[in-house]
Amino acid sequence: MDSNYIKKLAYSFGADVCGIGSIDRFKDAPKGFHPLDIYPEAKSVISIGKHFPASLFAANTKAPYTLVKNKSVQLLDDIAIKLTFHIEDQGYKAIPIPSDEPYEYWDSENKHGRGILSLKHAAQACGVGCIGKNTLLVNEKYGNRLYLGAVITNIELASDALSRNLCIESCNLCLKSCPQSALDGTTIIQKKCRQSCISSTPGGGFIYSCYTCREVCPFSKISSDS
Ligand code: SF4
Ligand code: SF4
Repeated sequence: MDSNYIKKLAYSFGADVCGIGSIDRFKDAPKGFHPLDIYPEAKSVISIGKHFPASLFAANTKAPYTLVKNKSVQLLDDIAIKLTFHIEDQGYKAIPIPSDEPYEYWDSENKHGRGILSLKHAAQACGVGCIGKNTLLVNEKYGNRLYLGAVITNIELASDALSRNLCIESCNLCLKSCPQSALDGTTIIQKKCRQSCISSTPGGGFIYSCYTCREVCPFSKISSDS
């Protein structure tokens, strides 16, 4: 199995983007959140993504965005699990990484959660894009309009070229637009963001109530017009 074979599989299962990074690309991963902490025989990480329609930003309600986000998370998990089974069928091992929570790490004082692997850092290490000042992944084709998933495997796969820096140097639109001042250009203060980003609905559900830092990014708008 080589990288092209894995990528073709990922696309056939519904991924919109797929990149691959060997384990040596993860030297800077924090202790406890390295692919080897999850699976000690890991040799490569496969990053997958699904984009969402730019039209969601034109709606006067956040319900459509919430629908697509929830569905995309399910689809990415399905793709990761299908890849896992397929890799196993070829005699290798693979570990699917959840596309969203549950957080096994939770700092209750700072309301700061971490997934078992940072999907955006994994995507950057796999050449899918770069992390912008809003701390979201910026992809050449889809801008910030991308949700992410990943699979860790013991197959030695060739890495994709790393992305150039796509975030516009003179831009700070996402920083200026955040209603909670949760962004400083390199990190996100989750405690502040959580006060805006998810809200309960009167009927007992929840809604993604803020995604301004995605919406204002000119890179997303440019790519959505193309
Ligand atoms: S989702 Fe909203 S509150 Fe959170 S960082 Fe982005 S703009 Fe700020
Ligand atoms: S809004 Fe500007 S600064 Fe923020 S991620 Fe997009 S290009 Fe970078």
